[in-house]
Amino acid sequence: MSLFQTIGRLPYRLNKQVYRLSRHNGCVFALQRRHLSEATEEQDLVVIGSGPGGYVAAIKAAQLGMKTVCVEKNPTLGGTCLNVGCIPSKALLNNSHFYHMAHSGDLEKRGIEVGDLRLNLPRMMEQKNSAVKALTGGIAHLFKQNGVTHLSGHGRITGSREVAVLHPDGKIKEVVKTKNILIATGSEVTPFPGIEVDEKTIVSSTGALSLDAVPEKMVLIGAGVIGLELGSVWQRLGSEVTAVEFLPHVGGVGIDLEISKNFQRILKKQGMKFMMSTKVTAAKKTASKITVSVESVKDPSKKEDLECNVVLVCIGRRPYTKNLGLEEVGISLDNQGRIPVNSRFASKVPSIYAIGDCIAGPMLAHKAEDEGIIAVEGMAGGAVHIDYNCVPSVIYTHPEVAWVGKSEEQLKEEGVKYKLGKFPLVANSRAKTNADTDGMVKIISHEETDRILGAHIIAASAGELINEAALAMEYGASSEDVARVCHAHPTVSEAFREANIAAYIGKAINV
Ligand SMILES: Cc1cc2nc3c(=O)[nH]c(=O)nc-3n(C[C@H](O)[C@H](O)[C@H](O)COP(=O)(O)OP(=O)(O)OC[C@H]3O[C@@H](n4cnc5c(N)ncnc54)[C@H](O)[C@@H]3O)c2cc1C
Repeated sequence: MSLFQTIGRLPYRLNKQVYRLSRHNGCVFALQRRHLSEATEEQDLVVIGSGPGGYVAAIKAAQLGMKTVCVEKNPTLGGTCLNVGCIPSKALLNNSHFYHMAHSGDLEKRGIEVGDLRLNLPRMMEQKNSAVKALTGGIAHLFKQNGVTHLSGHGRITGSREVAVLHPDGKIKEVVKTKNILIATGSEVTPFPGIEVDEKTIVSSTGALSLDAVPEKMVLIGAGVIGLELGSVWQRLGSEVTAVEFLPHVGGVGIDLEISKNFQRILKKQGMKFMMSTKVTAAKKTASKITVSVESVKDPSKKEDLECNVVLVCIGRRPYTKNLGLEEVGISLDNQGRIPVNSRFASKVPSIYAIGDCIAGPMLAHKAEDEGIIAVEGMAGGAVHIDYNCVPSVIYTHPEVAWVGKSEEQLKEEGVKYKLGKFPLVANSRAKTNADTDGMVKIISHEETDRILGAHIIAASAGELINEAALAMEYGASSEDVARVCHAHPTVSEAFREANIAAYIGKAINV
């Protein structure tokens, strides 16, 4: 190798970026930014996946002084959450709610008359896309600011301390040596056996976020969180929506059944149709429509065919660990396809960790984020602690439904003695002034110690209110503790306080 070649191959650090000399016109050298060359140095941590678990972990690691690389196979950062999950769905939920308020006559009742109301669906999609673009681009900016190196490509573990970054054709682009590896590869849509998703008329949540017209009739296979959120969007925009659900209740696993029943009643009032304890057996497509065949879970002789224009398959998500190289390093998955980890998020191979949707626990963005932060803190020698009982769940319909801690059913099963405090939103001054009184707060506290065991809320702002409950529970608060905290008036959070008063002394003030 010539001297010029040697000089040209050396990396130079300038302003935290790595540069290399390159030849111009045969003899002049110019400094060229080379992200990849930095990655070829041994890293402290390689994070695979840039969803809310991975990108937050990478930033935290860099903030703790670790030399960190984040490998992402998608063209944009942010994972499911930012690209095809939490963010685009909430943009559509927010804007479809405004449209529905105008269209349903709600605004008129409030003294706001709107003439010539029209839905501009492409514009609504544009707003959603620009929110996604701004937020995914924001991660690239945060990576730069914090010194995280982003490598674009498919990450495959090729050794206990080595990750290969692959081109889409599977060829190796680069191999990165590292002290630790953090798998944050998330999840994917669970397919429905025999029903092929084309993302046009038979769609998963991803296709349902980008339909180019409002379907006249839509069938949801599954009345869990994602189905009810996206079903609400299209119903507000004009679709006739029918949800077919295998279980006898809506809202998925973990929801308190009293809350679920009230929630379903509210959704029915809004026009959503439900076929409960019913299973889909097939979906057949013709040029103009789709026929969905269903039968009763209890009595399979009761069969029916439903016709619609769009079917949304939303029966859940499953961990994504394709082509990660796990078997080769001796890591096998559990029976649900998840990566088994210990309480410090380390897998069977001590230098390989995993967090987020690809391990056990609720598939939620904030759960993935929290795990990412504490897993990395643990690698740096810190304590690792997460109380999964204090991880809140939210369904962002209108009204929203949110809960944290145990449901009545779970406590009964565990044989724990509890007391209840309930407060209807119709008795809350702010809900009343806002003419938004559908909902309730239900507090479950321990019969003897009064410690809050669960909080369950249906309210327009339940997703915000639930964080007060999570905070209280993290601090081990009793319902008396919350009852004695001065809450600003008039706020919907006063309903949360009132339900705690009811749990503590058996009677709220304003009801
Ligand atoms: C429609 C919808 C709405 C949702 N709404 C909410 C909500 O409101 N609130 C909430 O908390 N949760 C919500 N979720 C769930 C939430 O999106 C997930 O729980 C969260 O994104 C999980 O984060 P993660 O970091 O574990 O994985 P993901 O976000 O799935 O990210 C994993 C990333 O890893 C990348 N990757 C995978 N394998 C490789 C590889 N080998 N090499 C390189 N990169 C790889 C993927 O491309 C992806 O970018 C929603 C999900 C959907 C589908």
